[in-house]
Parts: sequence; C-alpha cells; structure tokens
Amino acid sequence: MRNKVINIIYRIVFLIAIYAFSQHYYTKNLNFTEDFEVIIGEASTTPANWVGSKDVDKNISILILAGHADSQGLAGAGTPGEAVDKYGLNPMHPEISDELFWNLKLQESIVKIGKQKGLNIRSYDPGIRYIDDANDPRTNWSVGRQFAKRGGYALEIHFDAYGKYGIGSGLIPPFSETPNKIDESIAKTFGRFPILFRGGLGAPRRQIRILEIGKLEGLLEKNLRNIKTRRKTINLLSNKIVQAILNGMVQKSNI
Ligand SMILES: [Zn+2]
Repeated sequence: MRNKVINIIYRIVFLIAIYAFSQHYYTKNLNFTEDFEVIIGEASTTPANWVGSKDVDKNISILILAGHADSQGLAGAGTPGEAVDKYGLNPMHPEISDELFWNLKLQESIVKIGKQKGLNIRSYDPGIRYIDDANDPRTNWSVGRQFAKRGGYALEIHFDAYGKYGIGSGLIPPFSETPNKIDESIAKTFGRFPILFRGGLGAPRRQIRILEIGKLEGLLEKNLRNIKTRRKTINLLSNKIVQAILNGMVQKSNI
C-alpha cells in the first residue's frame, strides 16, 4: 500500500515537472524582446562627424517615403533579406522585395502613430512599382524633393542588406542643407552615416533624408516575419522613429 502511494506521488511529480518544462519552453520561444538596440542590431560605424543643431519648427510638415517603392524589378529594388536570400524562405510578397514589403508596413505605421501624437505628417506612395526615370514627377525622389524645397522634412525609410552586404542602422542627412535637430535626434537613436556616404546618394542630393532602420536579418527579420511578434515589432520601431522626431522639435515655451 505504501509503495503504491509513493509510486503515485512519483508519477504526479513527474507530470508536473514535464508540464513546467514544456510551459517554460513554450513561453521562452514566444518571448518578445522589447530591447530596441538588440532588435535593430548593429549601428553604422562609418565615421560621421556631422551634428544637427538647426532648430526645427514644431509644426513642420513631415513626409514619410518607403524606400524602393518605385524601383521594383530594377537594380535598386531593395534587399531581399537574409531569410529569402540566404535561407531560401518564400518572399513576403511575390512581386516586391522583402525590404519594400516592410518599408510600406513601417511607413503606414509611422504616419498613423505620428498623427496620433500630433505631428503634421503624411505619406506618399507612387503606387506604380516600376518607374524607369528617377526624375519622373511621380517618383519618391521627385515628390520628396518638391516637399523639401517647400521647407518640409522628407524622410525615406529603408532596411539595410544583411551580413557583409550591409552596414547597419543610421541616418544619412541631406546633402546641401544643414542637418537639423530632428536629424540629430534620429541619429542619436539609430546611428549616423556620413553626409557624403557613397558619394552622396540620389535621395540626400534631393535633400531627402534616408533612415536605415536596421539590417534585414537575424532577430529583427525573425520578429517581423513571426506573425505573433510582427505587430509589436512594427509598433516598437515606429514609436522610436516618431519619438525621435518629436524630441528633435522645438518645444513650445510655457512662459
Ligand atoms: Zn533600401
């Protein structure tokens, strides 16, 4: 009789142990890290010595562009990402690069959160995914250029290539305009690239800022692809971008 009781107790303990272990394993794998620096990965270490010190009016109009929205099928379609290119997973969408897929998701989220927080912010999407001429009036760059000319803040978002093909997160400031406090604030959060990065790219030459959010690889890409962590990851990144913009604006004096 005593042996029987001990036997039952053993079994119960064993089952509890298995249950506890499986619960731990399950939650561990669902665990979402809120650590922003860990998620975006390495920042650019390319030497950059610019400082954004020009004041920005708090009502400045802001335009968010999704990088490569008009250059699909061309050489500049954006990175396919580590999951597709290195591990052979299916692209997120059959007709566009994974980078553009995520750029569009981020664009929508940044504008939504920005509006909620009182920013004068909007997006532009050319809709046409292949425009051969960068100077066509419908491209990101043409619309961004006009926007910047009128005094607005145009920001084109990107994800950098994975592994040795990419550099990391950071902001590329405009080519001939003096970097301002929003540029400085974004660079403090994401890192900074030199003004003359790769000889001065097409967007910065049109006074459009480029933000590389992070390399499309590792934890960042996994958290975006995993349906359970996707929304949280997009929100986390968008909130950081909106907060950085807000921090760079001149606050209204209470006096
Ligand atoms: Zn890109």
